[in-house]
Amino acid sequence: MRPLAEHLRSLIALEGPVTVERYMDLCLRHYYAARDPLGAAGDFTTAPEISQMFGELIGLWMLEVWHAIGRPNPCRVVELGPGRGTLMADLLRAARLLPDFRAAASVHLVETSPALRQRQRAALASSGYRVDWHGGLAEVPPGPTLLVGNEFFDALPVRQFVATERGWCERLVGLGGDGLVFGLRAEPESDLPTPLRLGDVLEWPAAAMSVVTDLSRRLAGQGGAALIVDYGYWGPAFGDTLQAVKNHAFVDPLQEPGAADLTTHVDFRRLAQAASDAGARVHGPSTQADFLLALGIETRTASLKQRATPGQGAGLDRALARLTERGRTGMGELFKVLALTRKDLESVPGLPASSPLPAKT
Ligand code: SAH
Repeated sequence: MRPLAEHLRSLIALEGPVTVERYMDLCLRHYYAARDPLGAAGDFTTAPEISQMFGELIGLWMLEVWHAIGRPNPCRVVELGPGRGTLMADLLRAARLLPDFRAAASVHLVETSPALRQRQRAALASSGYRVDWHGGLAEVPPGPTLLVGNEFFDALPVRQFVATERGWCERLVGLGGDGLVFGLRAEPESDLPTPLRLGDVLEWPAAAMSVVTDLSRRLAGQGGAALIVDYGYWGPAFGDTLQAVKNHAFVDPLQEPGAADLTTHVDFRRLAQAASDAGARVHGPSTQADFLLALGIETRTASLKQRATPGQGAGLDRALARLTERGRTGMGELFKVLALTRKDLESVPGLPASSPLPAKT
């Protein structure tokens, strides 16, 4: 494959600088298409890869919600960006507790990467469920839906605008002396309000909001619930959260296009607003720690430890600590959980009933 850096150079030489959004899109397609980025030998490790308890508890969450919405049959069990398929495999194993659910559920994986589709096929081969793959949510057949997305929304491209004396100018990627460099579009964005502080960065997650809008319309019309787990914050906030990770370390986002994972932190308020505008009810957000503790992760750890060797028991304790670690950079606090449902479902397990959404902005 022609290195992406070379392709970007000729593209920019021909057409001029590209937006950060287009840059992210090109890099991410390249990055995910050909590799398995997860685990110790890869670039980053996610919650389902840390412990089976993560997927199991989400499986029990789904069973409860399925009950609460009247045990629909058929029911679409959907995952956005399933990685290695680990979360789905753990979720389905936990869901075996309820044979009626098993009879009603069909599994739908929204995944663009051929390499990861292979991994998912292997992970779910013995699950006993029919599994279908889709390029987007719109391809999942209609019907009541139970959906989960862990570290999916952070992997979608965002636009960035920088506050200048002229107004909000879009951040671009162009060619410098010896490589790619960030720059700004000269003309400010005419439909954004005047910035308050020079140098602020506004991130606009158009792709994530569009997925949430489609998802929420689906839930509002056909019933169901979605669980979104990701690192992020409750906006508004003004900062550059674009980051590149390779071999479990941060690298320069422009250094090796397509070879490092590019992400941004998710603004849950924007996603909640998009969901609410599209007719869904929003539950949460909560921190991952509060959510997992409310679902009983400590009890689950204790019960798994009863059947474990001392070494395995210590591993379970470490996994529990890692998934629920507090502090600004601890997974339990940095990661947030938000659920979306049809309006008539007043609560879901593990999350506060509603979020403090402002009037439409
Ligand atoms: N949920 C998994 C993997 C997270 S990595 C886990 O928690 O381990 C992000 C996942 O989203 C990968 O599976 C990647 O291939 C997929 N992905 C990224 N962009 C996508 C897109 N636009 N559409 C569908 N899947 C995408």
